[in-house]
Amino acid sequence: MFPLPSFRRLPTRSSAQPFSPRTVEKTSRLRGATATESICPYCAVGCGQIIYTKAGRIIDIEGDPRSPINEGTLCPKGADALQLAVNPHRVTRVLYRAPHSDRWETRSLDWALDQIARRVQAARDAELAARDGQGRPVTAVRSIGTLGGATMDIEENYLIKKLFAGGLGVLAIENQARI
Ligand code: SF4
Repeated sequence: MFPLPSFRRLPTRSSAQPFSPRTVEKTSRLRGATATESICPYCAVGCGQIIYTKAGRIIDIEGDPRSPINEGTLCPKGADALQLAVNPHRVTRVLYRAPHSDRWETRSLDWALDQIARRVQAARDAELAARDGQGRPVTAVRSIGTLGGATMDIEENYLIKKLFAGGLGVLAIENQARI
């Protein structure tokens, strides 16, 4: 955390400028907020961000003017980072739709993780190739693939690469953000 940037003060009522009393009484919504330095989670450019919070809730995210990378600017995706963190449409529960069902069921996270682990292991065990077409030793699984998105951060992509490529032998690992 660090001191908030200084905000331009509106003139007082005694000023000669033609501001309405309502305008004079307005202040920045960031006044009194806690400012915390952060890094945009979206891509490897690593733009600096300032996250503003009040009472433990994020109220705004802006580019950090002190960052030598972005000097206060953000691309359209980074400028929308607030909507990633604060969004009533964000799904926060595990939803499962059984084969041929027309409805979603709420399940626990433990149940979902167990299902994923079982199915990945079954697919890998069924398809694991220990030799290539010329008889050379390989560890290759072609029946599983991963597709990442730009909202995944660098650490998540590192772990995916370690687990799927190094650990399981999966060949198809892709991310549209080119991290
Ligand atoms: S997504 Fe945009 S704002 Fe975020 S790090 Fe990349 S270039 Fe910067």
